[in-house]
Amino acid sequence: MKIGFIGLGNMGAPMAQRLVEAGHIVTGYDLMESAIAAMPKDMITIANDAPDAARDQDIVITMLPDGESLASVAAAIIPVMRQRSCLIDCSTVDVNTARVVAEQCKEANILGLDAPVSGGVVGAVSGTLTFMVGGSVASFAIGSQLFEIMGQRAIHCGEAGAGQAAKICNNMILGVSMIATCEAFALADDLALDRQKLFDVVSTSSGNSWSMSTYCPAPGVGPKSPSDNHYAPGFSAALMLKDLHLAQQAADLNGTPTRAGKLALDIYRDFVESKDGASLDFSAILNELTAGQKIEG
Ligand code: NAD
Repeated sequence: MKIGFIGLGNMGAPMAQRLVEAGHIVTGYDLMESAIAAMPKDMITIANDAPDAARDQDIVITMLPDGESLASVAAAIIPVMRQRSCLIDCSTVDVNTARVVAEQCKEANILGLDAPVSGGVVGAVSGTLTFMVGGSVASFAIGSQLFEIMGQRAIHCGEAGAGQAAKICNNMILGVSMIATCEAFALADDLALDRQKLFDVVSTSSGNSWSMSTYCPAPGVGPKSPSDNHYAPGFSAALMLKDLHLAQQAADLNGTPTRAGKLALDIYRDFVESKDGASLDFSAILNELTAGQKIEG
């Protein structure tokens, strides 16, 4: 297939590369010179601008930082995309923007999907991403051929926006469960309970979660994770903050009481904005919580 790929950053570049390796013809575009310079020119054609990358393609994929950039790229490319071609947005954005873009696609007779991912840069490089997808059954059938190349799982979550909804619900659980796991390690330290013993118990008990058993925030405990590499991300605290923002924004708009989600947002905001946590993995919040002031009784 002929594919346009817009947004060749940490995630987009390896995803585009996998599509080329699978035999697709990919034309890429990114605003940043450095992102373009990092792409292998013998594999991928670089367009002059976003409409140039989107014109006359079977599928256009976007992998952009946020809803604002998606909205501006969508406004520029939808008018030049071929009728019945497909726009797949893999960025993480707010549900509302995803629905607006889906509506614009529909009006232009273009198939649209919101298909955010989990799995991070490692998943993008190894082709093991999970896609959470919103849009029609027909659009999902078209996108599936590419999801199989870029990932190992694609779940059709429902109509437009459902992929983004699933993504922010998942990451709200992840943010809250990571904080709970880290607080348990902090409490264990104060109770002189060995961290390894806490892991042995919890990872096979009712307090278990992905944050404990797969991505343990305590260095030297559990399978290898960013905590064993000085908390180099992985999944950065800045991206966790972004996703908790999106979750809270959606909860506020819909009047959903998400008090733990709001608290997780406040804790990560403080970590990222006041404690230099932005470039660290989100599990580094352990050090913040264990270094916290003792509460005077
Ligand atoms: P990134 O900042 O590395 O890449 C985004 C790219 O988009 C940049 O190269 C930027 O120059 C480009 N861009 C911005 N505006 C543009 C425009 N108008 N036209 C063309 N290009 C434009 O970000 P990333 O880590 O690749 O993440 C991309 C998306 O994936 C984000 O929405 C993020 O939340 C989501 N995500 C990231 C991860 C991760 O671990 N990095 C994991 C899951 C989901």
